[in-house]
Amino acid sequence: MEVTPRIHSIPAPTAFYTGPQAPNVFLVMDGGEGALIDSGFGDEQSVRARLEYLGERPDVKLRYIVLTHHHFDHSSGAHQIRQASGAQIVMHPQEERFLRDWQSDVPQDVDIPADQKAVAEQVQRFRQQAAEAAPDVPIADGGMLNVGGLTLEVVHTPGHTLGSICVYLREERALFTGDTALGLGTVAISPPPYGDMRLYLESLERLKGYDAALMLPGHGRAVQDVGRKLQELIDHRREREEQVLRLLADGKTSARSMLSAIYPELDRRIVPMALRQIEAHLAKLTEERRVEPAREGEWRLRG
Ligand SMILES: [Zn+2]
Ligand SMILES: [Zn+2]
Repeated sequence: MEVTPRIHSIPAPTAFYTGPQAPNVFLVMDGGEGALIDSGFGDEQSVRARLEYLGERPDVKLRYIVLTHHHFDHSSGAHQIRQASGAQIVMHPQEERFLRDWQSDVPQDVDIPADQKAVAEQVQRFRQQAAEAAPDVPIADGGMLNVGGLTLEVVHTPGHTLGSICVYLREERALFTGDTALGLGTVAISPPPYGDMRLYLESLERLKGYDAALMLPGHGRAVQDVGRKLQELIDHRREREEQVLRLLADGKTSARSMLSAIYPELDRRIVPMALRQIEAHLAKLTEERRVEPAREGEWRLRG
């Protein structure tokens, strides 16, 4: 699917539990070379869809598979595509230990309810596949990758995860944002050590400086008014932070006690994710010395 002549989106049949939130995989190509931005899922159907798309372009040699972060919806197909294409996997070094540690309870993009055994097993398979996608090329902020005559600039944008990266393609004024900025809704931010709300807001502010004309997110649609979208995401978090401060002032001292006020119609399946999100705000406010921990799992405003 053509986004621009040099940027394509490679769809795959939707994996069973993500619905409209299926991960986006983009192919950037120029002068006989190509790079994937994220790999999508590692199930047979998804990988086959991506490889067939590449197979239809035999004149394009895939050089890189750039992973925006370690989460399995973005990374579990990467190793199989590397084996089939000879491309190198590129990732920020801070992601690698989370990628490898597939049996730990590192938060992912979807929480799986304990009673959904088949889904949980599939997720474990995805995470095991993701763990095989050890990067060939570690890349940090400011790193550049050449694809034909194009230059992909890596922007380190910690927040959703600590090693999340975005990729700026100056020649197209296109910004690939992974899960740092979505085309649909807001992304989950966990408290440290997995994510960081303070760094997340700094990352969004920084992305505004890129003057991109096209945002290509890890989930959801492409966005044209990039500056406004980024500002919307920043405003949303600022409002949520104000709400957390108000609830604290009203005597709601734990993330759990704030839950129903912040998310009145919360699906029970995403309670853990919602709690982490509130805790991420509390961790940011604690670091800024605007609140302080009280008893275990409770906070209070600093006088
Ligand atoms: Zn994702
Ligand atoms: Zn993610």
